[in-house]
Amino acid sequence: MKSPITSPLFATFALLILLSSLALIAQDHFAISAALALLSMPIAMYAYGNLHNFFHRPVGNPRVNHSREIQGILLANCLALGWNLYKRHHTNHHKYNNGPKDYSTNLNKKGDWHSGSYYLTKNALIPYLILLIPGAALAEIPKKSWTPLLFIDETLRTLIKLAFYLAFGPKGLAILILWQILFVLQLFYFNYLQHFEVPIGEAVVWQNPLFNHLTLNQGYHDQHHQSPSTNADHLPTIPSRTPPKKTVGVFHPKLFLYFLISPHHLHTQLNKN
Ligand SMILES: [Zn+2]
Repeated sequence: MKSPITSPLFATFALLILLSSLALIAQDHFAISAALALLSMPIAMYAYGNLHNFFHRPVGNPRVNHSREIQGILLANCLALGWNLYKRHHTNHHKYNNGPKDYSTNLNKKGDWHSGSYYLTKNALIPYLILLIPGAALAEIPKKSWTPLLFIDETLRTLIKLAFYLAFGPKGLAILILWQILFVLQLFYFNYLQHFEVPIGEAVVWQNPLFNHLTLNQGYHDQHHQSPSTNADHLPTIPSRTPPKKTVGVFHPKLFLYFLISPHHLHTQLNKN
């Protein structure tokens, strides 16, 4: 299957059209807009795939070419992620790869799995809510790393929300926030599962062609951890260290329920399917 077009600017443009349409519908039909927001999550993962590949495969030198940073800032902020915070957290994820120092590890101090509800609250929901405060990332990023572009990054996240409020009213803003929360929950749900039941340092591989086409090969997560700078297109050529799985099961409502409340039941179910 041929890979889709990849460009952070293209993905930003597509997302802005999608989000504006949802906000417009939300003015009169909030429930329909909320349902469409849920259905649009694969598009969010496509946009994230662009952002992620762009992070690892930068075009141009950021010291001389600010367009890289600007593109990252635009796309990350549409997706509710601060670009500078994302770079910091994702670099940490690759360095510690689900180990105890990984900010988004799915293991507790005893080395047992966190429940999904705890994991999503800690890694997705609370950081999202904190990032609603203008300039919140400045509290986490060391002062020596502050740049003018970081201030643009931080300002933009607030400006997007203000623009939605002014253009589409409170319901338009609410649907933007709902969409962004759904996206971060989805992102961390996948991250949890991609590091579930594999040794620290390795990752799960999902070979579902549709999933990989939509997400720019996010399913080849073990290969990505082995070689983060390899372009997404070439990941399937790297042998994985873990037996590949199909992705279909992770969308099953029963599995999602087990993920939320009992990782041990999730373990039993995943090994049955
Ligand atoms: Zn990565």
